Amino acid sequence: MEDTIYAPSSAIGGAIAVIRVSGDQARRVSELLNRELTRQPRKLTYVKLQQNGELIDECMAAFLPAPATYTGEDMFELNCHGGMQTIQRVLAALGSLGFRPAEAGEFTKRAFLNGKMDLSAAEAVMDVINADAEKSLKAALLQLQGSVRREIEGVESLLLDALSGIDAAIDYPDEAEADTLLALPESLEQAKCRVETLIAESRRGRVLRDGLRVAIVGRPNVGKSSLMNALLGTDRAIVTAEAGTTRDLIDEKTSFQGVPVRLIDTAGIREADSEAERIGVDRAREAIQTADVVCMVLDASVPITAEDETLLRETAGMTRLVLLNKCDLAQNDIPSTLESIRVSAKTGEGLDELITAILRLAAPERGDGAYITNERHIRALEHTLESLNDAKRADELDCAATDVKNALHYLGSITGTDVDASVLDRIFERFCVGK
Ligand code: GDP
Repeated sequence: MEDTIYAPSSAIGGAIAVIRVSGDQARRVSELLNRELTRQPRKLTYVKLQQNGELIDECMAAFLPAPATYTGEDMFELNCHGGMQTIQRVLAALGSLGFRPAEAGEFTKRAFLNGKMDLSAAEAVMDVINADAEKSLKAALLQLQGSVRREIEGVESLLLDALSGIDAAIDYPDEAEADTLLALPESLEQAKCRVETLIAESRRGRVLRDGLRVAIVGRPNVGKSSLMNALLGTDRAIVTAEAGTTRDLIDEKTSFQGVPVRLIDTAGIREADSEAERIGVDRAREAIQTADVVCMVLDASVPITAEDETLLRETAGMTRLVLLNKCDLAQNDIPSTLESIRVSAKTGEGLDELITAILRLAAPERGDGAYITNERHIRALEHTLESLNDAKRADELDCAATDVKNALHYLGSITGTDVDASVLDRIFERFCVGK
């Protein structure tokens, strides 16, 4: 028998706190209430919660019987007052019934283990909670509704077809082997294409989850900070400032057209005179190398300098946009071979065009918004792809069968049909308590 668990599920400090209980014994919460709620399931009812005759709180409570609950077990939900004292006393009263505090993610883990959702949907729960831009939330909600599971099941069904062909050929070698060997490349190719597309689209998915990293690069005084402020100003209301790691690197969050963005001003990239400055320069270079898009800023009102040219050369191989800033001032000649966008941090000219260009460069877009965003899923898809490539190269059916089974194993680890307990622990320990 599983323990019965409890945890506060709302943030501490609000007017009302939601406390959830799940497990075989959950109905015993009634022992603490002045009314028996288990005979009226799913009805939010006003009750007094008391222990040893002493009133602890007045709450709204509901009993939710298995299996139609979040965890698939009997659950009790209590909405009590949100003060720390009250919450602690309610939790202590629940503890007195022999229940134990839930571990991080334990409600969702139970939901997965009881078949209420596949593993990818369970993982989406935290993404829904953490989503900080509109499109990230959409991808997370679609994943919660099973979008990833459906994609994976599509590939699995192609591979299961291939595998049954292989097995038949191994069992009846004379008749079927030649046919199977002929047909195999096609079903493997289809599965491989599907996986490749999912991986390519996942780049956009990662961006939706973690934010598009945009580095602003240029020599001093070209207007990097001004541009950064102008771009942040387009969405000021939801900007949250993060302290820069050094005074040379400023990293701020915003969103462009619903896509989360991290703008990084790499003011410090120049020759370093001191050790401290050198560390700043290294950080700036690293930020540039890991950026999804590099915005290389030139001052259009003055001739290009040697320092500009060095930076242009250094960023040439990157996913880059060249910005001619200060286009509100008299213009200098810029080499026409250089594809660029004219902007003015001062007047705001060209900023919409810049935002569109950044988003277009970042990653391919999917009409339905159902992206694979989770690093663990992406890694599993990459392993799947390797196994499929091995299967295509295999010249014996036995080997091909083993490779296809490996690919199926990696796909199963995404939806949770084929996953170790230790992997589950690692996934759910990152959840918040109460979810
Ligand atoms: P940074 O050193 O590259 O971060 O440059 P700043 O953002 O500090 O800008 C340097 C100077 O250029 C400041 O005096 C800004 O007011 C000015 N500046 C920045 N952008 C523009 C622009 O688009 N037009 C004009 N006219 N001046 C600008």
